[in-house]
Amino acid sequence: MDLPRSCDVLVIGAGPAGSSSAALLSQAGYSVAVVEKQNFPRFVIGESLLPHCMDLLAEANLLEAVRARDYIIKRGALFLRGDDRCDFNFRDQHTNGWDHTWQVPRADFDKTLADAVAARGVPFAYEQEVTAVDLSSKPKATVVDREGHAQEISARFVIDASGYGRVLPRLLSLDAPSNFPQRKAVFTHLRGDRRPEGPEVNRIWVVLPKGGAWVWIIPFSNGVTSYGVVGDSGVFAQFPADSEACLRAVIASDHNLARLVDTEFIFPPRVLEGYACSVKRVHGDNFCLVGNATEFLDPVFSSGVTLALASANRASKAVMRQLAGESVDWESDYARPMKLGTNVFRTYVSTWYDGTLPRIFFSPVVAESVKRMICSVLAGYVWDESNPFVAQHERKVAQVARLAA
Ligand SMILES: Cc1cc2nc3c(=O)[nH]c(=O)nc-3n(C[C@H](O)[C@H](O)[C@H](O)COP(=O)(O)OP(=O)(O)OC[C@H]3O[C@@H](n4cnc5c(N)ncnc54)[C@H](O)[C@@H]3O)c2cc1C
Repeated sequence: MDLPRSCDVLVIGAGPAGSSSAALLSQAGYSVAVVEKQNFPRFVIGESLLPHCMDLLAEANLLEAVRARDYIIKRGALFLRGDDRCDFNFRDQHTNGWDHTWQVPRADFDKTLADAVAARGVPFAYEQEVTAVDLSSKPKATVVDREGHAQEISARFVIDASGYGRVLPRLLSLDAPSNFPQRKAVFTHLRGDRRPEGPEVNRIWVVLPKGGAWVWIIPFSNGVTSYGVVGDSGVFAQFPADSEACLRAVIASDHNLARLVDTEFIFPPRVLEGYACSVKRVHGDNFCLVGNATEFLDPVFSSGVTLALASANRASKAVMRQLAGESVDWESDYARPMKLGTNVFRTYVSTWYDGTLPRIFFSPVVAESVKRMICSVLAGYVWDESNPFVAQHERKVAQVARLAA
């Protein structure tokens, strides 16, 4: 589709953060244009949603479009370590929130969101790349198509939802190192997963084989399963360097992965390294960053899409107020609340890798009431301050770990 020469808001990137920003702004009456570098559907990793996504999709009027895709329903997360198991069922949680969500092949999910927003009249320009921005009092962006033709589009505000593309962090030198060690993920989609009967199929499975890796198994409704292994370089040094051989060796190393023996890998495993990233600031004159363009922590608790949708939601509301002439305090209205939620996940990710959280998960003495509170964090309700495991996340996790020891 042709881009307009000007609009109220230019959105860079048509992933979940970009499409949901465009949905919220357009339904409030603002003119929006979305520029997307790739053609959709396109592959991206990040397939297990959290229940809080449902609230955010509903607010953007995108829930029904997603529901129509018949994705597999995800009702919880099952953690397995040898013969130890810990099952979180989103029905049993502290927060009065959604008890389920979906596991989605992202190519299809992202296209579903984008198409739903485009159907409301928002122009999406695919295979066009934002290469430069001028964010002075009359912002404009340079957009280049596949043939190298450049055009300028002016907008009152620019939202960078470019994910791993990190357009504005690169152009404005906003990149900052993540305080997480750099890890690596090797993953593929496979066919032939011998899924268990019963409720366990409606889970993300997180398996901890010996040696420090963790493994995701994410079943989809189309019979395909996403399988990935995450660890640091020391972990991968124990396995063959060839990615396919590595993934097969991990399967062979643990009886909890036996269902994946003899499966067919649909594409050669992909490798992502050093994906944790951060930025110096998430807003400035006439722009803000949302989704992965801000910060990405880690895949272990499937927080990425939830944080992408949540940041898009908060940022879009601030943009609406700014465009309506109100004064917006971007720190207190956007940056700080996002940091609060991200920091809750940060604690859970850190304590996952230092062994504290697995000790809690697999302890026989941890009370059900505690599990319910942790379950709400794993469901993405990281802004529910009535949950002590949100409000005092570091202290409560450390306290329960001492009891679980
Ligand atoms: C190994 C791994 C596993 C993960 N697993 C999960 C999971 O199970 N659940 C979960 O919720 N999250 C997961 N994530 C995180 C998830 O991938 C991201 O958080 C999520 O995709 C962020 O969405 P987004 O909309 O911010 O960005 P994206 O989905 O990355 O979309 C950004 C879009 O911007 C476009 N773009 C880039 N540059 C430009 C440009 N110059 N001009 C125009 N367009 C541009 C890109 O083409 C892309 O389509 C995982 C991440 C990793 C690394």
